[in-house]
Amino acid sequence: MERQFTKEIESLRLGDGETFRGEGILAVTKALLQSGVSYVGGYQGAPVSHLLDVMVQARDYMDELGVHVEACTSEASAAAMLGASINYPARGAVTWKSIVGTNVAADALSYLASAGVMGGALIVLGEDYGEGGVVAQERSHSFAMKSLMWLLDPRPNLATIVDMVEKGFELSEASNTPVMMELRIRACHLQGSFTTKKNISPETSKIRKLQGPPEEFIYDRLAHPPAIFRQEKLKSDVRLPAARRFILEKKLNEIFKGEEMQLGIVVQGGLYNGLIRALGMLGLADDFGASRIPIYVLNVVYPLVPEEIVSFARDKKAVLVLEEGQPEFIEQEIATILRRADLQAKLHGKDLLQMAGDYSTEVMAKGLAGFLNRYAPALDTASGNAWIHRNGETKQKAAELLGALPQRPPSFCVGCPERPVFSAMKLVAQDIGRPHVSMDVGCHAFASFEPFSQGNTLLGYGMSLASAAGVTPMQAKRSVAVMGDGGFWHNGLLSGVASNLMNKGDGVLIIMKNGYASATGTQELISSPEQEARATAAGQSTAHTNATIESTLSGLGVKWLRTINNYDVGTMAATYREAMTTDFKGLKVIVAEGECQLERQRRLRPFLANSLAEGKRTVRVKYGVDEDTCTGDHSCIRLSGCPTLTIKDNPDPLRRDPVATVIDGCVGCGLCGENAHAAVLCPSFYRAEVIQNPTLWDRLLQKFL
Ligand code: SF4
Ligand code: SF4
Repeated sequence: MERQFTKEIESLRLGDGETFRGEGILAVTKALLQSGVSYVGGYQGAPVSHLLDVMVQARDYMDELGVHVEACTSEASAAAMLGASINYPARGAVTWKSIVGTNVAADALSYLASAGVMGGALIVLGEDYGEGGVVAQERSHSFAMKSLMWLLDPRPNLATIVDMVEKGFELSEASNTPVMMELRIRACHLQGSFTTKKNISPETSKIRKLQGPPEEFIYDRLAHPPAIFRQEKLKSDVRLPAARRFILEKKLNEIFKGEEMQLGIVVQGGLYNGLIRALGMLGLADDFGASRIPIYVLNVVYPLVPEEIVSFARDKKAVLVLEEGQPEFIEQEIATILRRADLQAKLHGKDLLQMAGDYSTEVMAKGLAGFLNRYAPALDTASGNAWIHRNGETKQKAAELLGALPQRPPSFCVGCPERPVFSAMKLVAQDIGRPHVSMDVGCHAFASFEPFSQGNTLLGYGMSLASAAGVTPMQAKRSVAVMGDGGFWHNGLLSGVASNLMNKGDGVLIIMKNGYASATGTQELISSPEQEARATAAGQSTAHTNATIESTLSGLGVKWLRTINNYDVGTMAATYREAMTTDFKGLKVIVAEGECQLERQRRLRPFLANSLAEGKRTVRVKYGVDEDTCTGDHSCIRLSGCPTLTIKDNPDPLRRDPVATVIDGCVGCGLCGENAHAAVLCPSFYRAEVIQNPTLWDRLLQKFL
């Protein structure tokens, strides 16, 4: 991993009374150390990747504290790691992107929640919901409910988030239950500060080792019959009341008073900042958060504490619940609590706000306006209503003027090694027709969009080959599955390849071997090039680094296996054509090899900058288009999709079609030339070498060229 977190690692060392400044997810990282965590693990994914990335890079400091850090190979391994807290008084934390990561971890989580924990167990979830989300839009809430694990949703400010991490461990220990903490994108990347405490070197750690398993063998700590029946009862009879007691006594939820006592708002902690902004727009809150309407902030969204709800809602005419996402779990539970307590406060929520989707400030302001118009018409909310009205008018006007805007889907980085593979597939499809393509989670999924438009299904990380299992037998043409090396090691090897071999499947699998889990922030894999270098430098065995994708596939029994340089479009196309048409029955795997360009550039740029600064001769390759030769048919663009290969006005006044042009960002990956050659396009592309700090010879040569 090339991105360096030097400054962030320094801030992890802050002691008593100092000030941490930074983003929310790094505040969580510091809070874990302040809480005396013994071990940390997780699987990368936005918006929580930085937590683990920083800890992995801070390994030396973690060793000083005795904290074990594990970059897990999947969320399931991370969840299973929390098993260390079942028998030992060790605090552990793991992290991943939710909902997808929680789905993957579900089995281990069920077992963990059943057995219960002795040491505090905290799961930090990147709740990838709403605008900017990149996974299926579901909530983690239902997982907490079904397993009876507790779910924190802290108010987004750094001090509250840090406090909730520390309290989260205590809650976990007080109720012997794992605790989840959901942090939305906005909370993870929120900037702020908090006063730090000294880090705690844990009592149970890599330094202070345990002498063995617990002296007394306790069968009840295994989630296995008959213990599971008792564990289920413990959850509701003992652990749940203990959790509610703790939440109540330690005041984990917050009440902000307001003068309009007859009304109340119940809000998920994570939505609090947006709510205050919405109330501010309606003229009902100031910039410091003082609201005229009382607010009950649920920093713990599961379990709810009936006593607190009853106390807040008693004597109120109406209560509005702000709960993002569907279904309305919290609202339904509050309805039950109010009914059981025979309270007459009117309850509103999803009837006044949208059921699904991001609760932005505007969405909440609209819901609040509807609520207030009904129960407090005397309140002056005119400015807010005018703002909502103006927003609607502006949107309508924009829609009328612009019509439907073209979608701007994400695309590969400039020079990405995965782009040439799809160029080759597109070329071959012109001859053999389009096959069914099962796509996977990862950068290659961008090929689902123009100009490649390949990818008929997306079923999860590492699941592309498995998702082709039902399709392949029904297709006259071979179907194709594409997965990245990240997906291969995460789930694809067993769920896809092993299953295909066992069932004697046919079909083609393309594995993008770019060296990293690129889409999640270019974290290392077992097959990353750095693994071997690091093991050698540390004097360790490099046996595991020999577990390349190819040797693993061969060992498993894959007989048709080719490794091809991605940028060689001609060879890639020929190999792909062979895979699609060969008489060989069985799985055909093409390992498409080419380093992630993002990583390559991160490595090259400082090297080039140093070279230039030292006055050394430095050569960069660029591609260009001869505008006189370009016919303006743009078939090169349709085959490439590179953002730096674009169009400009035709300089020839007699021709109207714009010509292709390569703009500044070109990294000289060579795909333009390869495509032109493989697809027999017009000869307008040229390759240029930009020489900086030229030698005398270069200058002389230039004179004669
Ligand atoms: S991160 Fe790497 S693999 Fe992903 S699109 Fe960019 S260059 Fe390609
Ligand atoms: S050579 Fe072509 S495809 Fe590669 S970065 Fe430059 S413009 Fe893009």
